[in-house]
Amino acid sequence: MLHVAVIGSGTMGNGIAHVFAQHGFSVTLIDISQPALDKALSTIGKNLDRQVTKGGLSEDDKTATLGRITTRTSIAEGVTNAQLVVEAATENVDLKLQIFRDLDLYAPQGAILASNTSSISITRIAAVTRRAEQVIGMHFMNPVPVMKLVEVIRGYATSDAVTEQVMDIARQLGKTPTEVNDYPGFVANRILMPMINEAIYSLFEGVAGVEEIDTVMKLGMAHPMGPLQLADFIGLDVCLAILRVLHDGLGNPKYAPCPLLVNMVMAGRLGVKSGEGFYTHAPGSKDLVVASRFQK
Ligand code: NAD
Repeated sequence: MLHVAVIGSGTMGNGIAHVFAQHGFSVTLIDISQPALDKALSTIGKNLDRQVTKGGLSEDDKTATLGRITTRTSIAEGVTNAQLVVEAATENVDLKLQIFRDLDLYAPQGAILASNTSSISITRIAAVTRRAEQVIGMHFMNPVPVMKLVEVIRGYATSDAVTEQVMDIARQLGKTPTEVNDYPGFVANRILMPMINEAIYSLFEGVAGVEEIDTVMKLGMAHPMGPLQLADFIGLDVCLAILRVLHDGLGNPKYAPCPLLVNMVMAGRLGVKSGEGFYTHAPGSKDLVVASRFQK
């Protein structure tokens, strides 16, 4: 089994470490923040407990999974024996470029360098390394242990061999990999974000209310969650940032973010993470209550 290093132990990094370790890979989880690493291990433990309770995993499997994860606060020390690195640090271009310069210096020559970025160009990230053919996108979906898709993104220079290897690794994790090319938003966000933006425009223009828009898409299109509720979960700041990548990268006005979304982000109404977006999100409550501003 390969040795995998996961960079960043936030929402995605802990899920990625979890699935690799559960499928027998040894994992070094790396974060600049020790509290983030401690929190990640505790989250992985709780999520494994849930799998044990549901009967999908034995206590022994849980113990073995946790035993396969070690943590580090330094990339230089953490990637020296990695054959695959999956970077899942904060979505910031300069930060990712610096991380990939470091990975190029410290990871073994043959190591594959993958990024879980939602929207940053893989080709751009690859260009700061001396191994662009070994750099690839491995875009997991949230929550990682549950969601089946891995969008595998080929940068301009990514080799066929590396793409095949990454597709195969994703299958070993029980996921379904899907190969796409490196253009703004890849496929997942190129289709999802305009839909969310259109839902916000429908609200903004008074076509319908929050509940009505989400009900049409849930019951009419069999989506498990309406687009406005989903936007709250993703984070309205994240949605706005991805729409800007689409708008800048493709130069088409159809991707222009709705002014209501821009205002909500400026006002700090970011969805679940800030407690309010299109809905209110009280800690611990699963009730779906439309935010007072949007109530009729
Ligand atoms: P997060 O904010 O929850 O976690 C990011 C982590 O990266 C933090 O723990 C932070 O301390 C760490 N970090 C920052 N700089 C670092 C460095 N130099 N070295 C090591 N660690 C560093 O973010 P997230 O939501 O887990 O997103 C991570 C990546 O996954 C982003 O590229 C994002 O676009 C992508 N992504 C997110 C989602 C999602 O739903 N959250 C879905 C798919 C892809």
